[in-house]
Amino acid sequence: MNSPIRGLHHVTATVDDAEADLAFAAGVLGLRLVKKTVNFDDPFVYHFYYGDETGTPGTIWTTFPYGGRGLRHGRAGAGQVTATTFAVSAGSLDYWRERLEAAGAAPGALAPRFGEPGLVFRDPSGLIFEILEAADDRRGWPGSPIDAARAIRGLHGVTLTSRAAANTIEFMTTVLGFSVEATEGDRTRLTVGGRGPGHIVDVIDGYGRQPGMGGIGTVHHVAFAVATRAEQELMRQRLIDLGHIVTPVQDRQYFQSIYFREPGGVLFEIATSEPGFAADEPAESLGRALKLPPWQEPNRQTIEAALPPVEPPL
Ligand code: ZN
Repeated sequence: MNSPIRGLHHVTATVDDAEADLAFAAGVLGLRLVKKTVNFDDPFVYHFYYGDETGTPGTIWTTFPYGGRGLRHGRAGAGQVTATTFAVSAGSLDYWRERLEAAGAAPGALAPRFGEPGLVFRDPSGLIFEILEAADDRRGWPGSPIDAARAIRGLHGVTLTSRAAANTIEFMTTVLGFSVEATEGDRTRLTVGGRGPGHIVDVIDGYGRQPGMGGIGTVHHVAFAVATRAEQELMRQRLIDLGHIVTPVQDRQYFQSIYFREPGGVLFEIATSEPGFAADEPAESLGRALKLPPWQEPNRQTIEAALPPVEPPL
């Protein structure tokens, strides 16, 4: 089906301590911190964006570090993204196993998934991450502490545990333009805008499983990329015409967003690729200064005083 969705844009999770999150995502995984800002809906909490050199859609992992802010720990389960997967090159798993063991992340081997071997591990908040060896010509972050051949290239995909997998798959194929690529066990692989890493959503049937509960240590939503506002409006209108509940367009400063729930309970976002993370600071120094949206600048002093101080990771 004709769809303007190009692939994944980003995955966003609620995590625990800010400093520990930076140390893990930038220091251990070797992603670039491309933006240090605040949660636009709760400005006394950071919002960290990690990705490749410029934060290209499809490479972006983002976190809200809620440690010490009174938020409960969540529970991964049905109606959520239950694993976030990154792509690395063939032959690099031994390196990653050692690196993750040294960081205390206790990696375990994954049975090859659609032919690709991988590792599974948890971040300091308990989020489930995976890395899979995959053919992927994206460059990753050349300034990473990991050499270019073995560095993370970007998101491989996500695993959705749907409360109603058949409905989720029907919605994603008929409304969002995904194609069913393959099935393996209880896993159905869908792709959009391409077939490789960065275009992949695996759906698992979570019917009858314990429902997920939002909070620290859980993924909040997954976002898909469209190029422009016009394409986003087309998708918004398509969803509304079919009776889905969609938010108005939200200005996220680096992209524009709409949000809706798919029928299996997972929160989806459609985000524009424009204008990107160099919209308010030079590309060379992304992520170093605390950036606030213009409407929060008058509150900078109060916000800075309330946020825990953190060192930039690199
Ligand atoms: Zn988002």
